[in-house]
Amino acid sequence: MTQTLIIGAGITGAALAFQLFRRGEDVTLVSTHAQGGLASAASFGWLNASYFLNHSHYHLRHAGMAAHRRLTEALPGLPTTWQGCLWYEATGDAQEETAADLLALGYKVERLIRSQIVDRLPALGPVPDTALFFPEEGVADPAILARALITASGAAVVRATVQSVTEKKGRATGVLTDLGPLPADRVILATGTGTPELLEPLGFTLPMLQRPGLMIATNALPPICPVVLATPDQEVRQDAKGHLIAPASAGHQGDHAETLGSFPVVVNATLTRLRALFPGHDIHFAHQAMALRPVPGDGLPVVGQGPLKGLWIAVMHSGATLAPVAAELLAEEITGGPESPLLADFRPARFQ
Ligand SMILES: Cc1cc2nc3c(=O)[nH]c(=O)nc-3n(C[C@H](O)[C@H](O)[C@H](O)COP(=O)(O)OP(=O)(O)OC[C@H]3O[C@@H](n4cnc5c(N)ncnc54)[C@H](O)[C@@H]3O)c2cc1C
Repeated sequence: MTQTLIIGAGITGAALAFQLFRRGEDVTLVSTHAQGGLASAASFGWLNASYFLNHSHYHLRHAGMAAHRRLTEALPGLPTTWQGCLWYEATGDAQEETAADLLALGYKVERLIRSQIVDRLPALGPVPDTALFFPEEGVADPAILARALITASGAAVVRATVQSVTEKKGRATGVLTDLGPLPADRVILATGTGTPELLEPLGFTLPMLQRPGLMIATNALPPICPVVLATPDQEVRQDAKGHLIAPASAGHQGDHAETLGSFPVVVNATLTRLRALFPGHDIHFAHQAMALRPVPGDGLPVVGQGPLKGLWIAVMHSGATLAPVAAELLAEEITGGPESPLLADFRPARFQ
């Protein structure tokens, strides 16, 4: 049987393990970090296609939301939720333009006025005149999802750091880890920000952007935020235990900051914004998670055949949204199925 090594146990590696297992493949995961990944463990987890960089990106993200729904059918009990997103990151003409663009693509969009916003979010302090509601959007915690997918896949997990991909005559033969060599017929790099170092010795330069992210959780509060809320200053959601989960940078999906400010300053600024959004609530810092977002140089996913036969790459930001569909399509292709047109614009070869 073909032996596949997936390097990385975040949402991308886990989703690939699950999809390959469903196709009867023998898979081993190798990861430096514990199951649940690195960026995956610091993610906001917003599942959406309302943010996109081009139309191919939109279609892949939209397919990503459908792939999440298939996962929840396959694995009942996953804590993925579909509460929708209340959005007024842009206002006025820019908001209307966003609505028109998304409706033209067939996305579900509701235009809300003040009274409808108050109905959906009574705890909101400053109520905008208008907002959009995206009813199909939701939230998944990628680290929790990754652990569930790894368990369901039955894949063996080796806690080791891969130092290099080994090759013979242009074909991947396995990996060399800090614990020794691991032979394989196929190697898949689902290594997030760790990917360029593994590709560089193979003569492949994968450019990555420097995008640090800090996610803050507050104390548990009564239910005050039943939607994903995206304002011009802040994105926020509330988890099942009542904690507000909030990225420390406003508009994090389009965030261009290469550095984070000092921790107390950034945390205080975020808490100040949350207290203004939900006045009258005792909102405090509880804990944080920090990671570099795995953003390829052009901001788009990198999914497909690498620089060797038998070597595959799956690296992406918005991986909370995208990993399940990228894994479905890549698993199909790797095991001899057709190449999906959905991946055509996201191939690694664009950087060669
Ligand atoms: C702050 C923040 C907010 C985000 N918000 C959203 C959001 O709202 N919606 C959305 O869709 N996406 C969001 N994302 C992006 C999303 O979380 C990531 O795209 C996704 O988690 C990437 O998953 P991954 O498995 O590819 O990478 P990771 O979770 O980073 O996992 C990489 C894995 O590779 C392993 N690894 C790396 N190098 C090696 C090596 N040499 N040897 C062995 N193992 C190695 C690591 O140990 C780890 O297990 C956010 C990310 C961040 C950081």
